[in-house]
Order: sequence, then C-alpha cells, then structure tokens
Amino acid sequence: MCGEEKNDSTLLLANYNALVDRVDSLCREIILASGDEIACRPGCDGCCRHFSVFPVEAYNIARAVASLDPDITGMIRDRARNLRAGDGCPLLHGGCCMLYEKRPIICRTHGLPIMIRNGDDTKIDFCPRNYRNAESIKGHYIIDLDTLNSTLAAINSIFIKNAVNHYLSFCERLTIAEAVLLRT
Ligand code: SF4
Ligand code: SF4
Repeated sequence: MCGEEKNDSTLLLANYNALVDRVDSLCREIILASGDEIACRPGCDGCCRHFSVFPVEAYNIARAVASLDPDITGMIRDRARNLRAGDGCPLLHGGCCMLYEKRPIICRTHGLPIMIRNGDDTKIDFCPRNYRNAESIKGHYIIDLDTLNSTLAAINSIFIKNAVNHYLSFCERLTIAEAVLLRT
C-alpha cells in the first residue's frame, strides 16, 4: 500500500464501516422483531455514558466532529476540554447524540439483548427499560458480544498498522472526549 493510499480515510475506515453496516442491520432486525418491547427513543439518554473506544472508532469520531459546522465543532471540543469527573458523554446535547450517524458501535447496540460469556457461564443482558413484558427472546435476536468485540479488535489492529497518526498506535483506548479532541 503506498503512502497516499494510507492517508485515505475511506480506505482506513472501510472495514470499520462495513462492520457498522452489519451491526446496524442486525439492530434494525432486532428492533423490528421486538416491537413495543423496545423503549429506546430520541430523548432517552440513560445509556449515554462517557465510554472509551478503540483508536479506529476514535478516529471515526474525530473526523466526523471536524466535518461539522465550525461553530458546532468548537462547541463540542470546548465541552470535551472542560469535562469534569462524573460528567456524561460530551456529545450528548438535549437528550440527543450530536454525532448520531457516526456514534460508536457500543452506542448502536446499547440496550438490545447481548450475550456475555464468562468461562462456562453465559449471561443475557439488556436495558431494564426494554423487554419489560417479554417472556423470552429468540436466540437469533441476541447479539454475541464476544464475537462483535473480537471482530472490532481485529479491525482496530489493521487500522493501527495503516494509520498515519502515530499517536493512535500507542493508545489502547481513548475516551470519547479524547476522540473529539484528536486532530486527524
Ligand atoms: S438503552 Fe435504555 S436508556 Fe438507552 S435509549 Fe434504550 S431504553 Fe433508553
Ligand atoms: S456518542 Fe452519542 S450515543 Fe454514544 S454515549 Fe455519546 S451521546 Fe450517547
């Protein structure tokens, strides 16, 4: 791969964007199949915490923030700079995500049923506001978190090898505030 190709953000993010498409498609299927059992809606922000993300997702966030109207970009960066311990996500504004289309994968799956393995134990988790009346959830509507995380980690490793921002090579994870302040 030549240097110019390495600089191309579309190529750098191709694997990641393909994963986002697959995750979105699965989430849409789950939401459709679950009907009224899903309480997620605009303005419901109980799950919007200050997450940390892999460098590939931090890069995606940084580029998205930089592409907004300069006043909005400045406002988001100011919020990220002035964040205090215990504050929520700097992208949350009036109960909605200012970067909804480019939000990280954890925010896309949040609240939907996920399977978590711990040794021989398997646990199914979801937001307590969802599935309040459901007696069961079909297996193919449950997200396998380990598989998703392994895929994201593999995509991140490839990204790190090709990224021109060497700072990112030294980061295991970045907070959303750190991602917002990244210069790509
Ligand atoms: S996951 Fe829970 S808190 Fe988050 S939007 Fe859905 S219902 Fe609301
Ligand atoms: S990135 Fe958006 S969806 Fe995710 S926690 Fe922040 S405000 Fe919520």
